[in-house]
Formats: sequence, structure tokens, C-alpha cells
Amino acid sequence: MRYKKPEEMKIETMLCHYGEERGKYQGAVVPPIYQNSLFTFESWDAIDEAFSSPVDNCIYTRGKNPTTSIVEEKLAALAGGEKAKLFSSGMGAISSAIMHFIKEGDHCITINNVYGPTSAFFKNHLKEKCGVDTTFVSGELVEDFENAIRENTRLIYLESPSSAVFTLQNIKEIVKLAKKHNIKTVIDNTWATPLFQRALEMGVDMEVHSCSKYINGHSDVVAGVAIGKKEDIEDMFYKEHALYGAKIAPFESWLIMRSLRTLPARMRIHQENAMKVAEFLDNHPKVKRVMYPGLDSFPQKKLAREQMTGFTGLFAFEIDSENLSSIKEFVNSLEFFGIGVSWGGHESLIFAPAIAYLKEMTEEHFKNTGLKLGIMRISVGLEHYEDLISDLSRGLELII
Ligand SMILES: *Cc1c(COP(=O)(O)O)cnc(C)c1O
Repeated sequence: MRYKKPEEMKIETMLCHYGEERGKYQGAVVPPIYQNSLFTFESWDAIDEAFSSPVDNCIYTRGKNPTTSIVEEKLAALAGGEKAKLFSSGMGAISSAIMHFIKEGDHCITINNVYGPTSAFFKNHLKEKCGVDTTFVSGELVEDFENAIRENTRLIYLESPSSAVFTLQNIKEIVKLAKKHNIKTVIDNTWATPLFQRALEMGVDMEVHSCSKYINGHSDVVAGVAIGKKEDIEDMFYKEHALYGAKIAPFESWLIMRSLRTLPARMRIHQENAMKVAEFLDNHPKVKRVMYPGLDSFPQKKLAREQMTGFTGLFAFEIDSENLSSIKEFVNSLEFFGIGVSWGGHESLIFAPAIAYLKEMTEEHFKNTGLKLGIMRISVGLEHYEDLISDLSRGLELII
């Protein structure tokens, strides 16, 4: 049997069942991993027919693979998009989405504290390879974008909240402005996931995700996805996806299929845990401020509640100390927070964004991002929040 249309069921049910057809694979409760590079055909005419539409037919796994297609159908339905394409990394999806919308000599606008490699893609790579200029703006005000628009502006690239200092952009208003000027919009929606932020419904042309974070959620896959209109995704299928070759492995698609079944359940716990940990930190004397969009003390709280329906487990806080050695001691003392990059997995993590940003950008750009040495980014995992709070509480005693 083929399950119903996604709009006939709730998201939780859709993520468990949609796109799967047990009858096609002996009733197996979990669809198989199609671990093959190519597909053979019965005849000349059959392969000839398949070639009339490679986007719809399994010919070669760089293009279409059945395991990957199931996951793409679920992801498109999850975000309310017409179509999705999986990539071998978030950056694969991001660079392809940007290239899809621009050409030589165009101008783009993005935010100062956009994800580091995305920033480098705009600032260095696009400039050098295609002569595309990018203006970086703070992004908290719609006017920041309005003032940066030029005659040749073709793309506004958003990341809300940003994953470094968690500032928000007003998605609906920016989309309105972009449409008025015939500018396309792309958003990196990795932080909120489509569960908590309906970017496509707010009019954004395409959303991209690092699936390495919440969508896969188990810290065992690096992958990405672009979701949007059929026309855009199919054009990317033949151009950026096929020609750059950032194809996902069928096994990794299969792991993401597993993960999507538990996404709503996981997100509820990430959010609940993060709220408890953020409130604890917000009231701690050694903590200067907590940057978590779910908190009442969050400066853009109103906008956060207008454009998001939930808050996930990644946020930052600033330690009230300039003493770098005691800050390091705090980080090193933690038992349940691994020291590492990435986020959105089952395990809690801590990272000082300054470590990466100072390697990737000039001191001046670093200053513009609003980051400081004492800012810690934590990814609150699925452990019990009481263990996490005790761990942080013991560690903060070391701050002088
Ligand atoms: C991790 C991340 C990316 C890049 O994704 P990869 O899967 O690591 O290539 C992009 N955007 C954000 C916000 C991220 O956190």
C-alpha cells in the first residue's frame, strides 16, 4: 500500500510512514538500503524511456536512488515544499542553492554572523570565481537589507536565528521587501528545523539545512538538504547537484529516514532540556547573559514568538569573566558536555565560537559578529537536564 498524501496526516505520522511502500519490498517494516551505483533495464526502449526524464527515474545513484528518494519526499512534506534534494553535506546544499540563484556580476546580501563557511563562500569564493559581490549586514532591522539593495542584487541569504549569537531576522518583512525588488530569498533553517519555523510558508524561495544537526540528530551522518519549488529543485538536480556531485550515500539517507521518525519526539526533549538549562544559566551570578530565543530575557523575544513555534537546544551564554585560564578550566571540567563543533545530536556539547571565527575572519569582522572570548555555545542533548545543570553548576564555581 501507498500511504496517503502528507496533508491527510499529522507531521509525526507523516514522518513515520509517508513515502514508504512496504509491498514493494516484501513487507519489510523498514525500507532497504539500495546500495547500488546503477540500475539496469529490460530493453533499449526501457532505458531510452528513462532517459526522457532522469529526475524521475533511477538510472545512476548520483542522480536518483530509491532510498534517498523516500527521504527527500519526507523532507519536502516536512517543510511544506514541493520538492527536496539531499546532498552529502549542509555546505553542498548551501553552495548549490546559492549558485542556483545567481550568475556572474550579481550582488548578494547576507548577515554578518552567517555560518562561517557560508560567509567564506560569499566573501572569497563567489567573489574570486564569479565576480559576485556580497554585502554583510547586521540583519536585525529590515532596513539593513533595504539599504544594501543595489540594482544587481539577486539574492538575500538569511540564517535565523544565526547559530553563533542567535540574532533573528524578520523573515516575512524581508520576503516582502525582496519580492518588491525581484530578489530571491534563501534561508538556512538548520537551527529551528521546519517543525518550529515554517520558512517556505512565509514566502522564502528555498530553505537549506545541514542534516548533520537535528534532522539526523544522532551525530553519525554529515548531510544536507535543499527544499523548495519543483522548478528550482529540478533545475538544481541537473546543474549544481549533478555537476558538483555532492551526492549523499544511500546508507546515509537510510540513517536520516530512521532519524526523521523520532524528530518531533527528540525536538520536544531538546527544547524542554534547553529551557531548564537556559533558565539556570540566566539566574547564575557568573553568567553575564544568555542568548536563547526561548527565554523571556531574549531581546528579540516578540519576533521569536511571532515567527517560530518552538525553540531548540542550541544557544550561547557569556561568562562574566575576562580570565581566560579560568574560562578554559570551566570548559575542561565538564563531564557531560563534550568539547567539539557541530550540534543537534543526542549528546551535549560545548564550544567557544571565538576559536573558529578568529581563524576564519579578520578581527574587525569578528568584532562585527558581536562575539567575545567568554561566549560559550552549548548544544543541549537528550540527557536528563538535572545532570546537565549539576555539571555546569560545578564548572561555574571555577570561574574567577
Ligand atoms: C553545520 C552547519 C552548516 C553546514 O553543514 P555541514 O553539514 O556541516 O556541511 C550550515 N549551517 C549551519 C547553521 C550549521 O550549523
